[in-house]
Amino acid sequence: MTAIYLRSMIDFRSDTVTLPTPAMLAFMQEAPIGDDVFGEDPSINALEAKTAGLFGMEAGLFCPSGTMTNQLAIKTHTQAGDEVICEELSHIYQYEGGGIASNSGCSVKLLQGNRGRITAGQVLAAINPEDVHKPISKLVSLENTCNRGGGACYNFSEIEAIQKVAKSNGLGLHLDGARIFNAIVHKKEDPQQYGKVFDSISICLSKGLGAPVGSVLIGAAPFIKKARRWRKVFGGGMRQAGSLAAAGIYALDNHIDRLKEDHTKALEIKNALLKKDFVKEIFEVETNIVIAHIEGKYNAPELVKALKEKNILAIAMAPALIRFVLHLDITDDMLANTIATIDKL
Ligand SMILES: *Cc1c(COP(=O)(O)O)cnc(C)c1O
Repeated sequence: MTAIYLRSMIDFRSDTVTLPTPAMLAFMQEAPIGDDVFGEDPSINALEAKTAGLFGMEAGLFCPSGTMTNQLAIKTHTQAGDEVICEELSHIYQYEGGGIASNSGCSVKLLQGNRGRITAGQVLAAINPEDVHKPISKLVSLENTCNRGGGACYNFSEIEAIQKVAKSNGLGLHLDGARIFNAIVHKKEDPQQYGKVFDSISICLSKGLGAPVGSVLIGAAPFIKKARRWRKVFGGGMRQAGSLAAAGIYALDNHIDRLKEDHTKALEIKNALLKKDFVKEIFEVETNIVIAHIEGKYNAPELVKALKEKNILAIAMAPALIRFVLHLDITDDMLANTIATIDKL
């Protein structure tokens, strides 16, 4: 098994690229398993209850991906012809293959936010009046941290204000919390705050938490019961998947506090980049994502190529934007090596 730990590249492309640690693998191998479609996988049941409990919500649903947990949430909150309100850069709109339309038959009202974050005032203005011409506004979906916003976090007071607007207008509130623990650690928040204001939360285990696969959707018990039915319809009813759930349990127990280290390392990458003439601007680094505006000696794809020649992988998100994502497989040595390489560019 050790061979899989021998990495030849320093991989900043995404926090999805982590491999299970030896301790996580050992925990996975010991996990009790059973047929989850019959509700008999002890590890999946434990993960679902644990995740829901952390946030003070009633029930959870383990899924193979964050796309599935988000899409199931949208499907369960809406009916065909309804409208979903979200920010224009949000993952549910940009990166889920048009699933809002094809899975749920819903239209989308896109808002232009600040690095992925929208305000209560924008949400209020986006809610359609009762009018036969208009789709029925049914759901508001927020993302925290905001991926395309460079890991930006909401201020919790704004989330509370959005919740008031959603609730008083009869709309549901969903959180795409792919990186919610990065936000919670950065802002020193309590997951229970989130459970109180959202009707549903999607949490990725396979991002910064370092599990190989999986996301959990949490919410009230009747909501999750409906979502469980849709998961089967979507083909997401897994059987003896408890070893994967065990990786999630291990990650929740061991990999939350350490996210701080990723945030500190992200700042070090930012500081190294800021010394370079070809770096015009860097989004404020709050969590584990660094997005830099590149111009001059390199454009973003050229910089990605130059780094790759030094065994460092990053992503060009646009001709002038490069992204580095920190995660638990980036060691101190890898960081030092990367900073030394950037210094010489
Ligand atoms: C990664 C991610 C997801 C889920 O992606 P999957 O690859 O389907 O697990 C959802 N939302 C955001 C913001 C993400 O970054």
